[in-house]
Amino acid sequence: GIPLPGRNVRADFPGLVTADGRLWHYLDTAATAQKPQAVIDATVRAMGADYATVHRGVYARSADMTLAYEAARVRVARFINAGGTDEIVFVRGATEGINLIAQSWGGANLKPGDRILLSQLEHHSNIVPWQLIAERTGAAIDVVPLTEDGRIDLDAMAAMITPAHKLVALAHVSNVLGSVLDVQHAAHIAHDAGALLLVDGCQAAPRMKIDVAALGCDFYLFSGHKLYGPTGIGVLWARAAILANMPPYHGGGAMIDKVTFRRTTYAPPPARFEAGTPAIVETIGLAAALDYVDAIGLDRIAAHEDALVRRTRDALRGINSIRLLGPEDSAGIVSFEMAGVHPHDIGTILDESDVAIRAGHHCAQPLMTQLGVDATARVSFGLYNDESDIEALLKGLDRVRALFG
Ligand code: PMP
Repeated sequence: GIPLPGRNVRADFPGLVTADGRLWHYLDTAATAQKPQAVIDATVRAMGADYATVHRGVYARSADMTLAYEAARVRVARFINAGGTDEIVFVRGATEGINLIAQSWGGANLKPGDRILLSQLEHHSNIVPWQLIAERTGAAIDVVPLTEDGRIDLDAMAAMITPAHKLVALAHVSNVLGSVLDVQHAAHIAHDAGALLLVDGCQAAPRMKIDVAALGCDFYLFSGHKLYGPTGIGVLWARAAILANMPPYHGGGAMIDKVTFRRTTYAPPPARFEAGTPAIVETIGLAAALDYVDAIGLDRIAAHEDALVRRTRDALRGINSIRLLGPEDSAGIVSFEMAGVHPHDIGTILDESDVAIRAGHHCAQPLMTQLGVDATARVSFGLYNDESDIEALLKGLDRVRALFG
C-alpha cells in the first residue's frame, strides 16, 4: 500500500531518535528536514560502489554515473513540471541560486534607475543578493508591505509597481509565518508591469505540489536539504529563453564550449551555470528524496501538515500568555511569542523534553522589525510528524510556564 505521512513513516528516518534512543520530537523541518533511509542508502551507494566522476570519463563507471546524474535532472524537471532539463540548473542551495540570478541576470539587465521589488517577509538570502547587485548596478530596492495577518500584500504590490521595476522576488511560503503567496496573482501583477517574477520556493517545495508552468513565474528555487534530501544541492529553475540569455556566473571546467587565451565561448544552459565537478552524490540523493516524497504524495503531505498546523494553533490559542503570529492557514509553520519568556529560553527548556524547535530571527530580521520582536519561537512540521509531537510540545510549554510563573 501507499505509505501515509505521520507515525508510520517514522521508522524510515534514523535521525528521529535521540542519542540514547528515545523518540525525538523534531519540529524544525523548516530549517532542515531529516532524511529517509532511502536517501541515505542512495548517497552511500553513489559515494561507494557507484562512485566516479561525471561528463568526462571514458570508462563505463563514469558513463553510468553521468546517466544517473542526468537522470536526476530529468527527475527534478518532472517534479516541478519544467519545460525541459535545460531549465534545471543544479546549485548548492536556494542561497546560491538567488545569488546566481542576481549576479548573472541582474548584472546583465539592471542599470541605474531600475528597481527591484522584494517583500517585508523575505529570508536574508532573498534580500542580500539583491542589495549586492543593486550596489553594483545602481538599481534600487522597494519593499512590498504585509497584510495585518502577515501575508505579502498583493494589492499594495499592484499599487506600487512601476515600469522601472525589472524584477520581483518573493517567498512562496514564509519561513517564519508559513504565509502562502498566491504566485499566479503575483505573476500577473509583475508581468503587467513588465517585470519578471522570482519565487523562493524553499519552504513550499517540501509542502505542496509545485507546477512552475501553472504558477506562471519566471524563476523558481529550492534547496534539497529541506526536501528530505542532502545538503549542498539545490535547484534553480528558469524559463529556457531567460537562461539562454544569461551570462555565466562562475567560470571553470564543464561550462565552456571552447577555451583559448584570446576568447572563450560557453556551453548552453544548464552546463553554462555548472562550472566545476558538480555535487554528484548529493544530486543522486536529491533524486531519491523526490522519489520518496512522491511515493507518499505532496497532496497528502500538505493535508497532513495542514491538520497539524490547525491542531497546534488551536491548542496554543488556548494559552493566555501566547500570541500566535501569521495567518490561520499557514503552511507547515507556526511562529509564536510567549509573554515574559525569551524564545531562546522556550527552545532550551523544550530541548530538555526532547522537543526541538527553532528560536531566533530566522534570517528574517526585517520581518522581526515589522512584527515588533527580536525573535520568535517557531514550530515547523515535516511529513513524519504526528499528534504525539504536538502533545510533547504542549507538555513542554506547560513546563516553561511553570518555570517562568
Ligand atoms: N529562503 C527561505 C524561505 C528559507 O527558509 C531558506 C532556508 N532557511 C532559504 C531561503 C535559504 O536556503 P539555503 O540555506 O538552503 O540556501
